[in-house]
Amino acid sequence: MGDISPKGEARVIIMKKDATDDQVEHIVAEIERYGLRAEVSRGEFRTIIGLIGDEHRISFSHLAALPGVKEARMIETPYKLISREYSALFEKEGQTRVIRVGDVEIGGKEPVYIAGPCAVESRQQMLDIAEEVKRAGAHILRGGIFKPRSSAYSFQGLGSAGQDEAEEALSWLKEAGDRFGLPVMTEIRGEAQVDLIARYVDIMQIGARNMYDQDLLAKVARKNKPVLYKRHFGASIEEFLSFAEYIAIEGNKDIIMCERGIVPVGKSHTRYTLDLSAVPVMHKETYLPVMVDPSHAAGRRDLIFSLSCAAIAAGANGLMIEVHTNPAEALVDAAQMITPPELAEVISTCQKIAKLVDRG
Ligand code: PEP
Ligand code: MN
Repeated sequence: MGDISPKGEARVIIMKKDATDDQVEHIVAEIERYGLRAEVSRGEFRTIIGLIGDEHRISFSHLAALPGVKEARMIETPYKLISREYSALFEKEGQTRVIRVGDVEIGGKEPVYIAGPCAVESRQQMLDIAEEVKRAGAHILRGGIFKPRSSAYSFQGLGSAGQDEAEEALSWLKEAGDRFGLPVMTEIRGEAQVDLIARYVDIMQIGARNMYDQDLLAKVARKNKPVLYKRHFGASIEEFLSFAEYIAIEGNKDIIMCERGIVPVGKSHTRYTLDLSAVPVMHKETYLPVMVDPSHAAGRRDLIFSLSCAAIAAGANGLMIEVHTNPAEALVDAAQMITPPELAEVISTCQKIAKLVDRG
């Protein structure tokens, strides 16, 4: 990777408190003259400039000596822009990034609940589910249009039938969201879907299987919409964070990290193993909000309540839960789908847990 040194160090320029805009611009121009890009973060107290590109092309001492610079510092991390250490240089220490989606704040004091079916199946299905998840206390509506499936012979989502069908399904998702005051989210399975989906949704979801697709990450990032970014089931936490940086270097830091389970050991009773330690670990490493998806981790509905409670207790900024008004008839992931009344119970209990644990 060209952005970081082999040791995983990254450079950052910290400006003096009274540095002028001209001085900041001069440094940006200097960084660009060497073929790198600059990321300027203006905080309440100071401005910092991150280098993006091959940092070895430019002399550190040269930058440190430019007018307005307080210091040029090394950060020991392979993921600079999203790291807590970096954000602490310009944000209030310990602050999690708050991502605003309509009236919803992800990363704020209250957990946020994303709910909806695995797949969009019909207009009526989306209207019914939207109404009921709203009543249950959910904030955001989800529904898949392009489904990643293990079998080429199973239902791939309504989008697989063609562009018109995809657009129609997206319009149902959006209509249901609009009618019940819920921002909407769907998964982008490939680069060809980015432009279409960006026209309809408030949050763009990158699924576990695409966590490593750098070209997709960049293309989605450039839409400048919040991204719900899922951990691959075989990825370490460090890899997950390192690849999130590919979204951030495109100038989009509205990234919601989502833990959804990793490959289980031996004969398992669950679809994946929910790695709850990832929640507090990621909160230490990054200032991005961290959500948990208990549905795909468990693969069975009888565990959703327990795993949801545990995730909120571990400090998750919210949950993504698959919900269907008629789980038995769901076209995809029927075994893990809960009903809206069950969702209401999850949310009301999680709200109590969130109050008990210090989420600072
Ligand atoms: C999903 O959320 O619909 C999904 C397919 O999840 P994951 O990418 O975590 O498997
Ligand atoms: Mn699913």
